[in-house]
Amino acid sequence: MEKAGKVLVAGGGGFIGGHLVADLLQTGHAEIRVVDCKPLSQWYQIFPQVENICADLRQVSACRAAAHDVRYVFNLAADMGGIGFIETHKAECMLSVLISTQLLMAAHEASVERFFYSSSACVYAAEKQTSADVVPLRESDAYPAMPEDGYGWEKLFSERMCRHFHEDYGLQTRVARYHNVYGPYGTFDGQREKAPAAICRKVIAAKLSGSGEIEIWGDGNQSRSFMYIEDCITGTRIIFDSDEAQPLNLGSDRLITINQLVDIVETIGGVKLKRVYDLAAPKGVRGRNSDNMLIAERLGWAPRIPLEVGLEQTYRWIYDQMTGGVKTAA
Ligand code: NAD
Repeated sequence: MEKAGKVLVAGGGGFIGGHLVADLLQTGHAEIRVVDCKPLSQWYQIFPQVENICADLRQVSACRAAAHDVRYVFNLAADMGGIGFIETHKAECMLSVLISTQLLMAAHEASVERFFYSSSACVYAAEKQTSADVVPLRESDAYPAMPEDGYGWEKLFSERMCRHFHEDYGLQTRVARYHNVYGPYGTFDGQREKAPAAICRKVIAAKLSGSGEIEIWGDGNQSRSFMYIEDCITGTRIIFDSDEAQPLNLGSDRLITINQLVDIVETIGGVKLKRVYDLAAPKGVRGRNSDNMLIAERLGWAPRIPLEVGLEQTYRWIYDQMTGGVKTAA
């Protein structure tokens, strides 16, 4: 990726998009256009030196305007959230297909050189994720297809569309399958948050209120892997720059249960809480882990930030948000 030429970050008012814009600026990209449908006041990070636009990328006209004069596109725009959101908003999640489709078409029309699509581990077949002691998911495990209902189907379809825009029109598309990304400057309440942020918030809330209790969705033995945002951004840029047009896993391969995640956050917060399990709450698949063999072999990428370190950063940031940004001892 050369420094010359405009870069579009779609969904740049969101968590990963905001960090990507910061990284692009830090690495000398001066011409950046950021588009998001949220009002500017709700963007997690705003950089006044770039072009910041509020627009709904489900509209083809907005996609055409966004892609105009652009050399590189990162599509991170999607209506999404944690398991509480995607299990109850399947139609909304699937409507993100309008963003993926219109933006690919607009990028092709505008002769964009390279297009990145943020896919998800939710594309993987449910039957491969039935045990907490899950075998890490390889890229080939997405087929035969039976992804997460709603959100996962949209992601798999859009991945496939990237492939065909590449094959049929020569658009250089790159696809990462993100596995649970966490870190500061992201959602931590309001239903769209994912487990690491939700657990940080609940531990902080219990600490501040002195309730002594934490509610956990499911029995806490469901397992996942969690990638810190810094690793996500490094991996995204490496995939973008690479010759690998096939979708690649981008995640941590350290499998951990939700109960173990709570243990770590309790240690950070210096509390021990009574656990109350809500067995009726959304839980998602029983186990999910990333097989990182392909990306390690092809691109030499592996995550570097230990979960304890990343969670500490995340906890501190959420603590500051919940206490009005006042940096007291957490
Ligand atoms: P996010 O919700 O913080 O960011 C997505 C952004 O897209 C939001 O700011 C939202 O306002 C914007 N958006 C939604 N609909 C839009 C529209 N019609 N027009 C313009 N903007 C629109 O989520 P994130 O965690 O930053 O995720 C970024 C991408 O990575 C998404 O495609 C998501 O599906 C994917 N992903 C994320 C994770 C994760 O753990 N965070 C895991 C797998 C995949």
